[in-house]
Amino acid sequence: MEHIKITLKSGKDQSVRRYHPWIFSGAIKKIYGTPSEGDIVDVYDNKEEFLATGHYQPGSIAVRIISFEQTGINTDFFSERLKRAFGYRTTLGLTENSETNVFRLVHGEGDGLPGLIIDIYNGVAVMQMHSVGMYRSRNEFVTLLRETLGERLSAVYDKSEDTLPHKSELKSANGYLYGNPGTFEVREYGHTFKVDWVSGQKTGFFIDQRENRKLLQSYSENRSVLNLFGYTGGFSVYAMKNARLVHTVDSSGPALDLADENIRLNFGEDSRHTSVKADAFGFLDNIKDKYDLIILDPPAFAKHNNVLTNALQGYKRLNIKAIEQIRPGGIIFTFSCSQVVTKENFRKSVFAAAANTGRKVRILHQLSQPPDHPVNIYHPEGEYLKGLVLYVE
Ligand code: SAH
Repeated sequence: MEHIKITLKSGKDQSVRRYHPWIFSGAIKKIYGTPSEGDIVDVYDNKEEFLATGHYQPGSIAVRIISFEQTGINTDFFSERLKRAFGYRTTLGLTENSETNVFRLVHGEGDGLPGLIIDIYNGVAVMQMHSVGMYRSRNEFVTLLRETLGERLSAVYDKSEDTLPHKSELKSANGYLYGNPGTFEVREYGHTFKVDWVSGQKTGFFIDQRENRKLLQSYSENRSVLNLFGYTGGFSVYAMKNARLVHTVDSSGPALDLADENIRLNFGEDSRHTSVKADAFGFLDNIKDKYDLIILDPPAFAKHNNVLTNALQGYKRLNIKAIEQIRPGGIIFTFSCSQVVTKENFRKSVFAAAANTGRKVRILHQLSQPPDHPVNIYHPEGEYLKGLVLYVE
């Protein structure tokens, strides 16, 4: 099938030549025809030299590039990309092992598949498409997942209803595209978690915090731990291994019910843990000197650049409260998962927060996302998770 051709304005080919995978609508000189959302288009510079092939979408990001070579984007092509994503993770020991059976198999641009996320939960693949182009290929991906994972794949769940562009005409409904989940339980570093991909947030679990949760465990011995924005208790379960007490705070009741269940799955009835349904900001106002380890893992405060300033203020406000209230000798794990907030901006907000309290604060660790959430070096925006571990004197 002939692809529709798009040419770029003079000079706008520069970022494409540096392999950046997005073409913004402002860079386009001419579209030869009327592509529908999700169609595959070929991109040329203003001298008609071929640059790349990708999925078209009306909006600020007009093309998400899939290949910088002139090639067919078909099942064989996607098969090769998926096998590479799996092979890389297998080589690095990131897929199934005796301690862990939950991992991210496809991380969008990081795996050369913009618009596609696939998380594996103990044999259940949860797919989340962010573009109509990828959504159209969803059944192809089901076939390819079965080929790639074989017997290990029990089900494929499509959860794209809320992640496809709002303006697209598609009416997508979440549901299983293949199989039945045998279980909703996964293992992560030997801990058991029940994951609810149907009603939970994102694909059900924040796999991206795995290494940071493991680090937390090494700091939680005998500490009084406050897990703010705790969701289904990811950090809490790790802390419960050796902490004196753990309080999980979240504004979502269903998330906390699952947090309680996850504590029970690992520790039975254990009075060291309590869940509290509350607003994290309000909760921090009245805890003076009660905790010596605090986790701040809020949802993305900024989804777009135009609210960046407010988001940075939000991080500052939250960190001021935690730094003010923590016991001397306390440790704070503080995070931002907003893609538009850079590592530098986040660090400045936390710096400003520390200065505001006047307390002596050291940075013990600078955290990021794990290798099953790889950053494409040509797409620095892919580095979205930032964290700092602080020691407060
Ligand atoms: N740390 C978690 C993931 C946190 S996701 C993990 O490792 O699994 C962010 C959580 O913040 C969500 O569960 C959401 O319900 C909660 N949340 C959002 N706004 C909140 C607020 N103002 N106060 C308390 N919790 C909030």
